[in-house]
Amino acid sequence: MFLRRPLIFILFLTLAATGGTASAGDDYAAERRLLMEEIRFDVNLTAGLTGRKTFHGNVLDAMNRVERHLFVPLLLRPYAYSNRPLPIGYGQTISQPYIVALMTDLLDPEAGQTALEIGTGSGYQAAVLAELGMRVFTMEIIEALAESAKSRLEKLGYSSVTARWGDGYDGWVEHAPFDAIVVTAAADHIPPPLVAQLKAGGRMIIPVGARFMTQQLVLVEKDAQGGVTTRQILPVSFVPFTRAH
Ligand code: SAH
Repeated sequence: MFLRRPLIFILFLTLAATGGTASAGDDYAAERRLLMEEIRFDVNLTAGLTGRKTFHGNVLDAMNRVERHLFVPLLLRPYAYSNRPLPIGYGQTISQPYIVALMTDLLDPEAGQTALEIGTGSGYQAAVLAELGMRVFTMEIIEALAESAKSRLEKLGYSSVTARWGDGYDGWVEHAPFDAIVVTAAADHIPPPLVAQLKAGGRMIIPVGARFMTQQLVLVEKDAQGGVTTRQILPVSFVPFTRAH
């Protein structure tokens, strides 16, 4: 009888401790934590290519707070925490979580910085950047996806994300320059307007290569004097970057 109380108390404490990372009623918290472990494993495996043995601690913490199952079609929810891309309609995909983590980490994100994303898709990558405390501007060329991502992000309370429909090739001049730019569709070249909208000291990550083939993830860095260098990170496979005209 008097043993039972401490047990209940411990159970309560455990629930309170784990509840901090996910919203109440989130049945996927355990799956999400396993996914973060899987990503850590992949980070280690690819360290030789990426040059990063571990990612900034806050990147995986941020991803652990984003409920990926709310960014995929209802029927695919059971697969939301597998480490792979999933279809989101209109021939587009939500990227593989490891790739989202890698692209985010390569931006060296810091709270208070401004980020531009080209290719909103589901809104997942934008939510991860917002969880890191960034002010996010995101553009999507497919109107239906732009609208659904915008309302999803609003509903989930991501007030630091501004989303709009449009061709991201020319960037978003009104809010430039950006500390970080992330392009989540494969382009055959790096759009010069995006390089121009990068701050001195800023970083851009973009898959570059031919459509429907393997591309290279490229890190673009602008130094304090405005000099630009590029570095290939690793082979990836993204949906194509398309143009409005
Ligand atoms: N970041 C997304 C992944 C989206 S896939 C997520 O987290 O879910 C890439 C997206 O880029 C697609 O939705 C595609 O329609 C969009 N896209 C392709 N070319 C574009 C362009 N020129 N401007 C804006 N979006 C573009």
